[in-house]
Amino acid sequence: MIQLFGRLYAPDDRGFCAVAVEGASIVSIRPTETQPAGSIGGPEARILPGLIDIQLNGAFGDDFADPSADVAGICRRLPQFGVTAFVPTIVTSAPDVYAPALANLRHQPVSGESRILGVHIEGPFISHAFRGAHDPAQLRPPSIEEASRWLEAGDVRWLTLAPELPGALALTSFLVDRGVRVSMGHTDATWSEAAAGVEAGATLATHLFNAMRPFRHRDPGVTGYVLGTGLTTGFIADGAHVSFEALRMVARIKAPDELVLITDALAGLGMPPGRYKVAGHEYVSDGTTGRLLDGTLTGSLLPLNLALRNLVDKVGLQPEVAVRLATLNPARALGLDGTLGRVEVGRGADLVVVHPDWQVQATIAGGALAYLDSEKSR
Ligand code: ZN
Repeated sequence: MIQLFGRLYAPDDRGFCAVAVEGASIVSIRPTETQPAGSIGGPEARILPGLIDIQLNGAFGDDFADPSADVAGICRRLPQFGVTAFVPTIVTSAPDVYAPALANLRHQPVSGESRILGVHIEGPFISHAFRGAHDPAQLRPPSIEEASRWLEAGDVRWLTLAPELPGALALTSFLVDRGVRVSMGHTDATWSEAAAGVEAGATLATHLFNAMRPFRHRDPGVTGYVLGTGLTTGFIADGAHVSFEALRMVARIKAPDELVLITDALAGLGMPPGRYKVAGHEYVSDGTTGRLLDGTLTGSLLPLNLALRNLVDKVGLQPEVAVRLATLNPARALGLDGTLGRVEVGRGADLVVVHPDWQVQATIAGGALAYLDSEKSR
């Protein structure tokens, strides 16, 4: 049995509790001010549901668009950031890359490791004008035929496309009928084109503000559509992709259940600053963001637990709201909130204990200790 002690955010604030784990499940949650002997945590610790990152391009030097990425190694090491489940992202690539990259990401869950919840395919059916760091030579019109091959090759959980492209709405309906979530991103869609995407079945937007037709008062565009409706959207909180002031504005406009914190992290996550690759293209990591050699901003390098800290310290969210954005909301965005994203007796034991500065003290994944920061343990 593993016992944890701290202030529990389940993600609602339950006050100080002792949480007991046996086998793969949470077996008891007991309110108490007294730390049980032998438990992990402490009077300043917070206990959270395991963090869920639904948009991660790579980590520890490996990129998921590379069919030889060390997926098992990434699953073993992600718990150091409190991440117990994630959705690897394959960004725009040549057609022949997808089948082997998807096959490489078919990885059986192992207790004590972060587990894969399916794959996110971002591009290649996106806007040329809002391609961001995606390879312009590989952009192509939406194709049901190509998407069908992906579904055969692997476990596709969600897709980012631009709804204004010819064939995008038909592809959206096709994918939604097959249980794949569709998200609008890297898009030049007007408000009405975004509305048509939702009408066809899209339920998400990808990294709000980044690579998206911007809001203008006479032309609110897809950004205005996301802000002005109940659509769920992912967003990056490294302070570089979106200013913290803009995120404070978003937090006033959007309901807390409509926001999903993502990292959009690159292969340089968990590595020193330097040169790494995304979909075969070199970029420079400064430790916070990545930039292609021409200066184009690509993904982020900020781990999810520290992005969560930014939501509290820089954006001003209450901890129980911030935690929801990195646990229950991503689970709900993928239709997995029946099993993931909460701390409840009888649920699977994916838990994180964090210090007051949101650094990870311990991570439990599938009931097993996945990470323990022994230096900081007390
Ligand atoms: Zn992107």
